[in-house]
Amino acid sequence: MDRGTFEMMKLANKRLILNSIRLNGPISRAKIAKQTKITPPTVSKIVKELIEEELVKESHLGESEGGRKPTLLLLKEDGYFVVSVDASSTHLRVMISNLVGEILIKKEISQSSSLSKEKFLKELVKKIREIIKTSAVDSEKILGIGVAMHGVVDIEQGTCLFSSDSGLKNIPIKESLEKELNLPVMVENNSRAMALGEFWFGKNKKGDSFSVINIGRGVGSGIITDGTLSRGAHDTAGEIGHTTISMHGRQCGCGNKGCLETYITGEGIVKTAREEIENIPSDISPEKIYQLAKQGETEYIQVLEKVGEYIGVGIVNYIHTVDPEVIVLGGGVLKSQEFLMPIIKKTITEKALTDKLKKGINLYVSDLGENMTLLGASVLFLKKLFH
Ligand SMILES: [Zn+2]
Repeated sequence: MDRGTFEMMKLANKRLILNSIRLNGPISRAKIAKQTKITPPTVSKIVKELIEEELVKESHLGESEGGRKPTLLLLKEDGYFVVSVDASSTHLRVMISNLVGEILIKKEISQSSSLSKEKFLKELVKKIREIIKTSAVDSEKILGIGVAMHGVVDIEQGTCLFSSDSGLKNIPIKESLEKELNLPVMVENNSRAMALGEFWFGKNKKGDSFSVINIGRGVGSGIITDGTLSRGAHDTAGEIGHTTISMHGRQCGCGNKGCLETYITGEGIVKTAREEIENIPSDISPEKIYQLAKQGETEYIQVLEKVGEYIGVGIVNYIHTVDPEVIVLGGGVLKSQEFLMPIIKKTITEKALTDKLKKGINLYVSDLGENMTLLGASVLFLKKLFH
């Protein structure tokens, strides 16, 4: 075997062992060997390296089966950190988390939606610099900066090609941040980042094939097949927010009319409420609509039910195109899930083509909440370490 092949095999074994510790830890060396089918001496040798590299640590709390307690292995949570960013042109969330997704520090900032490209990038650099400084994390231990960006992203270049909420085009995020901050940067579309967050940190750890649909300020989805994100030929796979559900419907930021997004985002919900309810308060917001529905105000409950139907129709279109096993919903709009979910499910039952689809789709709301996108942005770097 030549040296190159040997190194590659060693690296593959190392990743296999590291993943076994990530998914099954605390775990003994013997169990890793059994699970990965790598010989015990090789496991011990690689584990020694992983401990030296500060990726793995030993714990002595294992259950004894007679004799002395076995030493178990865990990820060394504070061995490395990732800076993650959830960015749109109206808000910015920045976070630093460790190898196991524990959050050290998180900041949220609203900004004007009429920012220029230059101002947007300048603000991004400033906020990242500030959070690194405040956290006092050693920059040697930062794997990189993962950016989840609202809009269409060219991941090779790390450029946002188009962001519909601001209309900005060709924002060179990776290039600018790397130049200013001297750390590696990866950029991904926010809904795809959410899918990665759910894949890595969500409850359905065994599901390698599923879709995440994000319904918040914008609408998008991430499709994971066999553990890998699908992007399509032109980086737009999963852009369900801009599928048309009404030919002559509401004007969308993308230039088209009647896009799904215009009916089911926070802004869309407010528009529906204004259309449906007379004498509605001028400062009505999605949060207030939810509160009023919770207080039993029938008109507001009906608005959310109408929105649930729009979402249901969007999901049926999605199911007929993608046919996923599991659909995980995330994003701010799902805070109203108690009103939305029954109608979404009812709409799927009414409109899906076959009985298998009507009953067979496992649909639920992610329990990661608003951290789903930021955690997903951190996975852009964690993934490189483990896969
Ligand atoms: Zn659109």
